Amino acid sequence: MPYIDDRFQRADRNIKAVSPRKIEKHATVSLPQEIFSEVEDIESLKFKSRFKSVYNDICKKIDLNEQIRPELKFETLGVSAAGGFDVVSGKIYFDDYFIKGLEKYDIAFIIRHELEHVKQFHDMERLLGLENFMKLMFSKVAKSQGDEAVNLKEVNTDYYKKVEHVLGKIDKDSPDGIRAQKYIDAFNKYPDLITLWNRNDICKLKKIFLFAKEFIVNYKFNFLETSANKAAKRFLKTFKV
Ligand SMILES: [Zn+2]
Repeated sequence: MPYIDDRFQRADRNIKAVSPRKIEKHATVSLPQEIFSEVEDIESLKFKSRFKSVYNDICKKIDLNEQIRPELKFETLGVSAAGGFDVVSGKIYFDDYFIKGLEKYDIAFIIRHELEHVKQFHDMERLLGLENFMKLMFSKVAKSQGDEAVNLKEVNTDYYKKVEHVLGKIDKDSPDGIRAQKYIDAFNKYPDLITLWNRNDICKLKKIFLFAKEFIVNYKFNFLETSANKAAKRFLKTFKV
């Protein structure tokens, strides 16, 4: 579930101005390349490790069991999205170049927002059971990725099995069950997940982000997004970052 925010498009531009890659490009004339890649690596490692500790701290505060805490990945996503929970791999991706220039508040907000998506998908699986959850993933993810990209073997079934094992099933008539059904309905209506993770689609994706207002509107007001934003706001009111 990609995290997109108008402000981050601006942040993206700011980051480009100080991006180590840019420094490299202009500076290699008089200095050896290695110096710059070394600087970039140290800074980047420091940032990643700080980010990871904030991530773990937030997971602890919301009682997200360590066994089912999604693995954190850093990758240049190349789109105006700061990151997102990949429902297929069960991992969270963040664009470190992108988020480096953000305030701590925004970083905590994005992490908490994505963790709410994680919980939503936990609940969907716990309501449906693995088999029906896979059917849902197939109908939604498959459709939006186009036939040739569909490979449900890529769905991290071990992860979702563990979720059900650790948290247990949800009864459909319980408040959690009713909410989980709302998540499923919203997921079915979610604008096509042209997916952050398909690199070949980046040009297409950029066009969609820039010009398709409808996509943005359907994205912004989808229940999965509005409830993730609500959870993140509530979290930041309760905990100081
Ligand atoms: Zn989201």
